[in-house]
Amino acid sequence: MATLLIIGAGVAGHTAALHAKRELGSRHEVVVVSPNTRWNWIPSNIWVGVGKMTKEQVTFPLEPLYRRKGITFHQALATAIHPDGGNGHDRGYVVARSTRPGSEGQEIAIEYDYLINCTGPKLNFAATEGLGPDGHSLSVCTAGHATEAAKQLTAAIGRLKAGENLRFVIGVGHGTCTCEGAAFEYIFNVDHVLRENGVRDRAEIFYLTNEAQLGDFGVGGLTFTQQGYQTTSKLWTESFYRERNIHPILGAHCKKIEPGRITYEQLDGTIHQLHFDFAMLLPPFRGADLKAYDREGNDISDKMFNPAGFMKVDANYAAGSYENWSASDWPQTYQSPLYDNVFAAGIAFAPPHPISQPRTSPNGTLIAPAPPRTGMPSGMIAKAVVLTIVDRIRGKSKPARHAIMTKMGAACVASAGMGLFSGSAASMTMHPIVPDWQAYPDTGRDLRGTSGEIGLAGHWMKHILHFLFLYKAKGHPFWWLIPE
Ligand SMILES: Cc1cc2nc3c(=O)[nH]c(=O)nc-3n(C[C@H](O)[C@H](O)[C@H](O)COP(=O)(O)OP(=O)(O)OC[C@H]3O[C@@H](n4cnc5c(N)ncnc54)[C@H](O)[C@@H]3O)c2cc1C
Repeated sequence: MATLLIIGAGVAGHTAALHAKRELGSRHEVVVVSPNTRWNWIPSNIWVGVGKMTKEQVTFPLEPLYRRKGITFHQALATAIHPDGGNGHDRGYVVARSTRPGSEGQEIAIEYDYLINCTGPKLNFAATEGLGPDGHSLSVCTAGHATEAAKQLTAAIGRLKAGENLRFVIGVGHGTCTCEGAAFEYIFNVDHVLRENGVRDRAEIFYLTNEAQLGDFGVGGLTFTQQGYQTTSKLWTESFYRERNIHPILGAHCKKIEPGRITYEQLDGTIHQLHFDFAMLLPPFRGADLKAYDREGNDISDKMFNPAGFMKVDANYAAGSYENWSASDWPQTYQSPLYDNVFAAGIAFAPPHPISQPRTSPNGTLIAPAPPRTGMPSGMIAKAVVLTIVDRIRGKSKPARHAIMTKMGAACVASAGMGLFSGSAASMTMHPIVPDWQAYPDTGRDLRGTSGEIGLAGHWMKHILHFLFLYKAKGHPFWWLIPE
């Protein structure tokens, strides 16, 4: 019997656990370690953040599902990987600290034959003074954060209705943030809800972003064809914001958030202050603070992880400056170069470099979107890694499975409103996610798989996806037929 240990039960970890158990059955053990009891479909937190959905509608308890499926679950936070074993362990093992009420803080050691690190992002609010729900701004990164944002939004709408004029600032809270698409979707929803309440004319809305130009989205922007004309995500997003009277502040790095006031630096090195009544600013991400030790107990964390705490895999981390980047730098198998039974999937893997061109202000401040790894690639990578491990457990001498972000497409749908006919969505598709300038010399991407549309169709699709992905995550009959 082989043991597959998965740390993290988010999009990548949960996808990996379900596929692994389905493939391996009861002859092998699938173990999941995660600190949270509930699974969260994070994309729908945006709707929780404007009061259109509740926390319960976007989360469900994991443990009963895992019990039913025969997956062992430890409610715990992994703190260290010992890939060589040692300390009485013949196999590699992970040390985790229990977060289960009643046994909090107790340490357990879990041995494995194969390990997948799916610990996603650590929400690094501490990178900017005063950022986040424990500081002076809001977030929609967790269902709990989003619930609080909705409460504050309702209070702000009450003030607008009472005749006040208020300023809303939505965007990212650090120069190196990713997930600009989520900030874009939230601003679209806030605008929509303010209009629904008849108070949009009293609200001034700013989009504060680290992107050097609108429509970059951390993927270096897109070129696509619309009604026979070539256009760009820059033009598309600019017209979207202009139509909705949303003011962009570009190339911005938040230095400090105080009650009602943001201090930020821009790419030209100038420092500004912006007052706000409501601010939702996403945090930058770093890797989970995992440590790694060899058999003798020597700290090998800097060999296994990059300085931001993400796990190094089969990528080229020595590409150097922007001019030298190439599609072939991106990982294919997500296997650790040090241990062939250790993998990372989803946001936990260390990308070789950003996708957008990095920029620095004259003061030396890096203001550059980090590369997004959204739900679809996270799930697809997790599934590919599981299939590689399943092949190896079954003794098949197949090469490792590939899920390459320079060959994979993604869709990004920002949808506002809940009505069957009153909602709207801005939908983008891109293929591939990471541009490949050798394969597509004109625009870096395949124009046939790269598009931008605004309208009702995307709105319906996003709502259907909400229900489909929750159906799949709950492991209901034929869940595996729903693609990642
Ligand atoms: C507000 C918002 C909106 C988004 N909207 C979209 C969208 O519309 N479409 C889209 O495709 N993507 C969207 N994304 C991105 C998407 O949510 C991520 O790509 C996806 O969740 C990444 O999956 P993951 O498994 O790597 O990380 P996560 O889903 O975050 O899962 C990480 C898991 O690891 C656990 N964990 C962390 N540390 C440890 C540890 N030390 N030990 C054990 N477990 C640990 C966490 O508790 C969690 O269970 C959005 C993200 C945000 C924040």
